[in-house]
Amino acid sequence: MPEEQDTGDFMRLLDKLAGTHALELEEYELLLDCLSPESARALAQRAVAQRKQVYGNAVFTRGLIEVSSYCKNDCLYCGIRKSNSGARRYRLTAEEIVSCADAGYELGFRTFVLQGGEDPFFTDKVLSELVSRIREAHPDCAITLSFGERSRKSYELLYRAGAERYLLRHETASPDLYRRWHPESMSFDNRMRCLGDLREIGYAVGVGFIVGAPFQANADLARDLKFIERFGPDMCGIGPFVPHHATPFAGFAAGTVELTCYLLSAIRLIAPNVLLPATTALGTIAPDGREQGILAGANVVMPNLSPVVHRRDYDLYDGKICTGEEAAECRGCLGARMLSVGYELAIDRGDKAPLPADFKSV
Ligand code: SAH
Repeated sequence: MPEEQDTGDFMRLLDKLAGTHALELEEYELLLDCLSPESARALAQRAVAQRKQVYGNAVFTRGLIEVSSYCKNDCLYCGIRKSNSGARRYRLTAEEIVSCADAGYELGFRTFVLQGGEDPFFTDKVLSELVSRIREAHPDCAITLSFGERSRKSYELLYRAGAERYLLRHETASPDLYRRWHPESMSFDNRMRCLGDLREIGYAVGVGFIVGAPFQANADLARDLKFIERFGPDMCGIGPFVPHHATPFAGFAAGTVELTCYLLSAIRLIAPNVLLPATTALGTIAPDGREQGILAGANVVMPNLSPVVHRRDYDLYDGKICTGEEAAECRGCLGARMLSVGYELAIDRGDKAPLPADFKSV
């Protein structure tokens, strides 16, 4: 295709996406095919303008507490998969988790994300009690859970105990790819069932996908964008694939900052008020990856509050950053990083904002 034709296509798609917040599936794929330094700049510019209308210069923080590295699942990309016999397993006690939240509160966090492998130790009873304890200690904070696939009944109990948000990345909206990335015991349909249940119960729901993972093509990523357009999540966590040496995907290349940021911008235009983190994985593949994510349209960062002694063992992928720092350093470092690109960390629960009355598509 001649270059002018390419630019023409891109500008048409950009105007349509920014104006209507939707594209056809084939158009999403074409948009992804148009990725270049110039198109990325243009997409990011619109995305940032859109985000500023809703959130101004505020960047929300979530204090991430990685509660367990035990997992009964066997996702092919993940370092804490059960088949990785070399993984060091740990599980925080309720006391440790509550003291992470207490320390986080002092540092200005008003949202705690409890994440872990699918560890059978965390039964509904154990997890509900934990949620209630944190709720009582910090009634002005939001609790997000990220413990993978559970039954509807379990999600209901946890919601009643006081968890208001749940983060369950769909990982990929392509059922074929989902099959290639996961063991046979897992299914795309069950992942979707979980997301539907969470939404019906009343949780603020976070979805998300991995960028640049093995066998993934732009046609697959187009499906992810279509899924986000249709599902309308409250939050969407995307990050580049980063290989882990002891997994079947060890030999594959990592995803790129360019593609991840381009997708962040596209997601911001699809869903102007979505909560969109610049993830740790993005900060892992480039020293300024999270800053670049914010400049592409993200508005959330998730500093680590886990006890330093266990951080290295929540080993999802090689080279994960922030494993040697105290929680206070993590928050301070991210605060400085955000300021360096003109943004400020908010001390706020960071709920999804409604679109302002005078909202205009850019
Ligand atoms: N058990 C929980 C939490 C999983 S870990 C759940 O199933 O939701 C959190 C996220 O890390 C995963 O959803 C996945 O998208 C991401 N992740 C895991 N391994 C990764 C890798 N090698 N590269 C990039 N992201 C990875």
